[in-house]
Amino acid sequence: MTLTFSNPSLFRTQGYIDGHWQAAASGKTFAVLNPATGAELAQVPDMGAAEAKQAIAAAHAALPAWRAKTAKERANILRKWYTLILANQEDLAQLMTAEQGKPLAEARGEVVYGANFIEWFAEEAKRVYGDVVPAHGPDKRIVVVKEPIGVVAAITPWNFPNAMITRKCAPALAAGCTVVVKPAEDTPLSALALAELAEQAGIPKGVFNIVTCEHGAEVGGELTGSPLVRKLSFTGSTEVGKLLMRQCAGTVKKVSLELGGNAPFIVFDDADLDAAVQGAIASKYRNAGQTCVCANRILVQDGVYDAFAARLAEAVKALKVGNGVEAGVTQGPLINEDAIAKVERLVSEAVAKGAKPELGGKRHALGGTFFEPTILTGVTADMSIFSEEIFGPVAPLFRFHTEAEAIQMANDTPFGLAAYFYSRDIGRVWRVAEGLEYGIVGINEGIISTEVAPFGGVKESGIGREGSKYGLDDFLEIKYLCMGGV
Ligand code: ADP
Repeated sequence: MTLTFSNPSLFRTQGYIDGHWQAAASGKTFAVLNPATGAELAQVPDMGAAEAKQAIAAAHAALPAWRAKTAKERANILRKWYTLILANQEDLAQLMTAEQGKPLAEARGEVVYGANFIEWFAEEAKRVYGDVVPAHGPDKRIVVVKEPIGVVAAITPWNFPNAMITRKCAPALAAGCTVVVKPAEDTPLSALALAELAEQAGIPKGVFNIVTCEHGAEVGGELTGSPLVRKLSFTGSTEVGKLLMRQCAGTVKKVSLELGGNAPFIVFDDADLDAAVQGAIASKYRNAGQTCVCANRILVQDGVYDAFAARLAEAVKALKVGNGVEAGVTQGPLINEDAIAKVERLVSEAVAKGAKPELGGKRHALGGTFFEPTILTGVTADMSIFSEEIFGPVAPLFRFHTEAEAIQMANDTPFGLAAYFYSRDIGRVWRVAEGLEYGIVGINEGIISTEVAPFGGVKESGIGREGSKYGLDDFLEIKYLCMGGV
């Protein structure tokens, strides 16, 4: 372990249940690796159904007191958590880069982005208003109130080890729910550091619990099967999301799912090409292409195809691949061997079918899970890269001729999370924005994530919205009171 912290208490390697740091009952642990070096960072508990049950029971027991607090009381505690996270930004970023691989600048940005959800929802939950409804009889009165849904399970991915936890837990906690988190096995240390700060902030025992495990199925089975858990919030693959949704059917849980994407990034003839290149770099290569809103298919109109490809190549050449802690590095390693094997498969299949690597196209000379920033031209819809989420630093450029063709290609997928397009024609901006079957549309903009806007997808990309005033709804139930005999 070579990390140095100004606040060593953030380096936690045990699970956090009912306000206690604990090992797995079995004594089993699993290794957390640094994807840039392969070095082992820590061993953390490989917990199972018993610990999941214990955490659910703790969250259930803590619920009455937590939900009984005023929104302002909860907001004050959450505000402390927010402040502590910002005060420890550098340590949290170092930890994140170590276990996840993203460049430090991105990790620092994620810590702030993640904390922003806590600030936002602490404020927002003070405004969970109800309604008074004109009644259906003279002797009746109708009032609608909103209540916290209850115990929430959050299952989170490794690509945003901090922000995917706060994006779920901040609205849940602010609304008055208690939470059990199962973080991704690749990045549990960031989750545990958040728990340490939650404890320091005064979040009461049992309100926020973390169960670590190497394989999600057993803990996931308990979280989805327990009648005490009233809501599942999941971010991850579509395959696992569908499985968890099925598992939740048995107890009719409310579910929020933020699943895979297949984002089109459309560049029209009339686009500002420099802005489009800048947007493509941000959308495609951030986090080494490992986000569910990363541009997956770059659709470029015939008239600017060659010019865009040339300018994009110039910009991509400036990217620097390396260990995320090194100065100037803009692209870290992929998370693990499975991830790089998938990218390799998609690229080699595309090339075998006629795509041309303008840049990159293979594993990086640095070895490990580093992959070259890649641009493929001449890519067509019959290649798997058109329909599968790449989750790597590969930009496939497809050619189209008309606006209608672009919209048709963009929508030709079961996914519907983020889409982007570049155009300066106001009529086209409206037509295309309305024609895209997506939950999020970036228009002349490649970065769309913020706590103030509703993030989420349509079709098989998911259910529910995170962030914004809408993000609280997923953690609230509506109750209507009908008073008679007035
Ligand atoms: P990815 O392929 O990006 O790792 P996953 O959907 O496999 O995406 O992982 C997202 C989260 O879901 C992780 O926390 C992972 O441990 C968890 N997970 C994976 N399989 C299951 C399962 N069967 N039950 C519960 N959680 C699971």
